[in-house]
Amino acid sequence: MSSLEKQIFESYAGLEGQQLLEPILRDFHGRAAVVSSFGAESAVLLHMVSQVDPSTPVIFLDTGKHFWETISYRAKLVDRLGLTGVRVITPDKALLAAQDPDGTLHKKNADHCCHIRKTLPLERALAGFDVTISGRKRYHGAARATLDFLSIGDGRLKVEPLAGFSALDIAAHMKAHDLPTHPLTEIGYFSIGCEPCTLPGGSAADPRAGRWAGTGKTECGIHWTHNGQAITPLSRAAH
Ligand code: SF4
Repeated sequence: MSSLEKQIFESYAGLEGQQLLEPILRDFHGRAAVVSSFGAESAVLLHMVSQVDPSTPVIFLDTGKHFWETISYRAKLVDRLGLTGVRVITPDKALLAAQDPDGTLHKKNADHCCHIRKTLPLERALAGFDVTISGRKRYHGAARATLDFLSIGDGRLKVEPLAGFSALDIAAHMKAHDLPTHPLTEIGYFSIGCEPCTLPGGSAADPRAGRWAGTGKTECGIHWTHNGQAITPLSRAAH
């Protein structure tokens, strides 16, 4: 990152939510992509994106293991918000055939399953983008508890406009803008990923309790660097 870019980023200090998205999508027009799971809380960030620029590229990783409700919800949200830049990214077919021929790799090696179904396809999809934007929140805890609004990893700026949002903030934004909810949230799912790795449950106090429950795994890996290191917060990278 150049010193000029660092100066630009400092100008975003104190901004969050849509106020942060606006200058990012303006200053990095054509170089920024949103990554969304179209999960339980995704509507909030996608709504903000639609208000700033509905043609913003939005990457959805179709792992082949999603709930049908998520695929249906994606179509509903895209239509409701008028998003025109959604890109559905799938895993490499030859790699799947070689390394997960019967589709049960998630039971034997979930990290490798996430690698070939999420991390590698995302890296391919992000070629040409300098900025990624996602909707992670600190209140989700674990590795996300110390999330910064801006950080750097693998040569890209990572932007987290909702880092400081609470469960109440999310609910308030959904209500204020009459946003549709993911159907699985109505039957007890607080956080939603792939079907084989997501159980009902979780709460505002432990939002991701239903993700890889009982395995010790808490993240799929797409928010880490190539060598498995945590993304470096911008404030630390600048020193
Ligand atoms: S969340 Fe589960 S099914 Fe989805 S890619 Fe990761 S291990 Fe595979």
